[in-house]
Amino acid sequence: MTRCADCYSSEFRLSKFRLRDLPHLARFQYPVRCKICRARTYTSLSQTMHLIGKPHAGKSHAVNTEEKKGMH
Ligand SMILES: [Zn+2]
Repeated sequence: MTRCADCYSSEFRLSKFRLRDLPHLARFQYPVRCKICRARTYTSLSQTMHLIGKPHAGKSHAVNTEEKKGMH
C-alpha cells in the first residue's frame, strides 16, 4: 500500500490529472493527494481503483452491526 512520504498516511484521494502526469500514467501510476497533509504523490493504478471503489456502504454496514448488538 502506498503511504504518504510526509506523514505516512495511507489516506489518499484522486488528484486532478495534469499533462505532466502522462509519463507517470505510462508507468501505470496515477496522481493522488494525501488527505492529511495534502501532499501530491503517485500510486499504482490498482491502488487508484481501490480509492475509487471504496464504498460508502461500508459505514452503514457497521451501523447495522451496531443495531443488531443493541437488539440483543
Ligand atoms: Zn501526508
